[in-house]
Amino acid sequence: MECYYLDNFAVTVDKQGADHFTKASYPVRYGRYGEIKTTDYLFEYNLNGEIKTIRGLNGNWPHPAEWLKRTAANDWVYYSVGRYHRLFSFLGEYYLPCLSYPSNSPWEYNPFGDVNIQNALAAASRLQADLLPILVNGIPAGIKGFLGSVVQNDTRILGRKTEKLHDIIGTAVSVLPPDTRHVDYNVIPLMVTDGCLYDCGFCCVKSHRPFQRRPQDNIDCQIRRLKRFYGADLRNYNALFLGNHDALAAGRETLRHAFTAAYHAFGFERAYLKNPTLFLFGSVDSLLKAGPKLFEALSQTPFYTYINIGLESADAATLAQIKKPLRRHKIEAAFQKMLDVNRHYLNIEMTANFLLGEHLPRAHQDALIDLIRGNLNRPYSKGAIYLSPLNTSRNPNQLLRQFVEIKIKSRLPTYLYLIHRL
Ligand code: SF4
Repeated sequence: MECYYLDNFAVTVDKQGADHFTKASYPVRYGRYGEIKTTDYLFEYNLNGEIKTIRGLNGNWPHPAEWLKRTAANDWVYYSVGRYHRLFSFLGEYYLPCLSYPSNSPWEYNPFGDVNIQNALAAASRLQADLLPILVNGIPAGIKGFLGSVVQNDTRILGRKTEKLHDIIGTAVSVLPPDTRHVDYNVIPLMVTDGCLYDCGFCCVKSHRPFQRRPQDNIDCQIRRLKRFYGADLRNYNALFLGNHDALAAGRETLRHAFTAAYHAFGFERAYLKNPTLFLFGSVDSLLKAGPKLFEALSQTPFYTYINIGLESADAATLAQIKKPLRRHKIEAAFQKMLDVNRHYLNIEMTANFLLGEHLPRAHQDALIDLIRGNLNRPYSKGAIYLSPLNTSRNPNQLLRQFVEIKIKSRLPTYLYLIHRL
């Protein structure tokens, strides 16, 4: 770690944060990073000199433990901790991620309308211009190199990098699996399939592409380009998202090739963060089709793997209402298989999504409770149930009451699923 004081700035390079992800109600920084501190703000940068987080230091900032984070897709997220009670029981996290784009959160707080947050974002954009005159002075090489990359990565360049990321993977990621909260949504996306097997009427994240497996050379090309894209900051990553909406349907060979090649190319064994983690979505049919050899292959990797399945409802009338082209017996069979996989494989955790909406039939809630209580003889800590608020919901309080009613009866960990993109 090297510190240097310049005019109104305190600059530190190569700071060392936590080496594993944790759940905390205060700002925790992970991996290695650099920071620039002014009287009013603390700006943190990744190893490419791209801005990562902003925290206000003066009395105008909404809460001392809250912060802004920029994702690899250049979206700002405000981490709100000071406004709500019992957030952890709703989200499994101590913060509410407030997104700068439309999502399905039942909480209506919009920090991006707050002039203090707008000032912080404007200060981050202005910083490059403020730093330029300092760069010509005789300053230590390490500090100069860091500030040089910060100056290069202005708002325009960061926007272009997002376009490049989406160009590399050949799509945008409209939604990340809920389990990626365990790594603070810091995943490297690698596409192994496009589209999905169904065309559910309620869905607002589908790509409208027909389902297709990506060929091996496309996966290899993405890996090569992603390695260059993440550059020096690659060592701050230990998590891989195999996309897009139904990677499980890619089958054993494609999946095995993708996670093995990515693990070695991205150097996860040398990452600053420990415990490599793999995330993917699956569908009811891809789960029912997946044989033991696929799960054996996943269980033999260095990853802890989360597979998230969209079940949506175990009630026939609700399935018809939301236009999910599946029968109830298949949903029940997929849920049973999820329980079996969770019991059998120590390093594979399957989780499931169900819908939450005040306009859904009462039978939806009854069938769900029957599934996540009646099927289990005791509470289990593995295999979360995520309830995803429909974005047509208009009554957030009723929605939260419904959630609490289900959570109290559930014998599996139960949380809300807020849609994040990348
Ligand atoms: S809910 Fe999943 S399976 Fe259905 S259309 Fe959306 S992405 Fe595809």
